[in-house]
Amino acid sequence: MADCIFCKIVKGKIPSDKVMEGKHFIAIRDINPQAPVHILLITREHFKNILEFPRSEGMFFEMLSMIEKVVKAEKIEKGFRVVINTGLEAGQSVDHFHIHILGGREMKWPPG
Ligand code: 5GP
Ligand code: ZN
Repeated sequence: MADCIFCKIVKGKIPSDKVMEGKHFIAIRDINPQAPVHILLITREHFKNILEFPRSEGMFFEMLSMIEKVVKAEKIEKGFRVVINTGLEAGQSVDHFHIHILGGREMKWPPG
């Protein structure tokens, strides 16, 4: 999508600190980190949110395996959080499907 900031990042039109690349996803460091480790898994293709994310085994498998690879590469196995904000009320600010991987500090529950 032309005006989408994450589409621009995927295409390299906006620079990012990329940590990993897959067939369907890229992993970049969040520009405004909320924890010592804050990585975003972003689909290469534009989907608005998790409700539009395709029910495809290949994509789902890569999503889980990239989460595992990021967690191991960042050494946050002892505690991390995977967050998918969906919709305005949940604080989604970029309407391009992405997954937050946060770690490196103690987490509270319930989340705000
Ligand atoms: P959301 O609020 O939609 O769940 O998450 C969007 C995330 O994207 C935020 O954590 C925000 O800091 C991050 N973000 C927004 N613009 C950019 C950018 O240009 N580069 C990077 N690396 N992260 C961004
Ligand atoms: Zn997009």
